[in-house]
Amino acid sequence: MVQLSFFERYVDDFKNQSCRRLSFPDGFKQVSDGILQYGGADYEVGGQRILVSGGIHGNEVTGVEIINEIVEQIINQRLQIHGKALFVLGNGKALAMNKRETEAKANMNRMFGRILQFFIDRGLTTSYEFGRVKQIEDAVRRFEPTWHFDIHQTIEPSDPFAITQLRNPKGVATYDYDVEAFLAEAKINKVVYRPTTTISSGVFSEFTGVNFGTKAMTLEIGQISKTCPLVYQAVRDAILRVLIEGAEVFEDVKNNDPIEAYKIIDEVIKRNPSFRFYRDGLRNFDSFKADQAICFDGQKDVVLKEPVGLLFPNAKVQTGERAGVLVKKLVLAEIIQFPVK
Ligand SMILES: [Zn+2]
Repeated sequence: MVQLSFFERYVDDFKNQSCRRLSFPDGFKQVSDGILQYGGADYEVGGQRILVSGGIHGNEVTGVEIINEIVEQIINQRLQIHGKALFVLGNGKALAMNKRETEAKANMNRMFGRILQFFIDRGLTTSYEFGRVKQIEDAVRRFEPTWHFDIHQTIEPSDPFAITQLRNPKGVATYDYDVEAFLAEAKINKVVYRPTTTISSGVFSEFTGVNFGTKAMTLEIGQISKTCPLVYQAVRDAILRVLIEGAEVFEDVKNNDPIEAYKIIDEVIKRNPSFRFYRDGLRNFDSFKADQAICFDGQKDVVLKEPVGLLFPNAKVQTGERAGVLVKKLVLAEIIQFPVK
């Protein structure tokens, strides 16, 4: 009989609505559907607690494939890890349907943290995604990750990049050299910093970064179904190195290709259906000069007084939704003096 993988069995369960409890070797604990913990009391104490998630958007299967390969390697090679790992397969129902989400406005990567409370306050609790985010949050709260890798893909072709925030443990933004070293090891040479604001965006890696001081990042590793295999392998192997050897492994990483750092400064909102960008075929990190019109948002031209880059350009979103994110390129000194709001 063919042995089905972690992911296949999970998705199979959704298709057949069978909800089986899956069996795993010693050291694994199935926390709930598609949430698997490895390591723990019998393993090294004081190691890292590493959260790896994929498929938060159900048609972005690459993260799930990476998790699958890591789990299979642990099982087949009987790998011992430095600390504990929590593997999360995100939107199981949408993964089985190969759709981003199961219903409109149920984007799981906009539902975490304070935004979940917003859904509760408005009685918007009937979607599969709402229940799933709650289930994942409960598991993550018990786990308190020190690292979080949330793997995504982009709709259009894109250089791989990471989105993270500077951690802010005592009112002072902290620059993590080991985050940069991890990204170098993973062959990702662009990093985008979220502002350290008190307003939550509902993004999973922001939830972990803000609540547990986790070194948390959204890894956007390329286009859906056309992910660069070199980046795929590098991301998988860099995560495996953190799992097996601990984060100190990166202390000696020499980054010959210095990382490009950006900071999110604003969003472009589609104000009405007449929204349009002033350039065709826009891709992530395409840049605009100071005073150059980026788009007509439906009410006015969007023009900034400084040069900016554009991320996630998408004119097809619904009115009222985000059609793009504006980023500013930083030098290292600017990152370290990042303003804490
Ligand atoms: Zn995504």
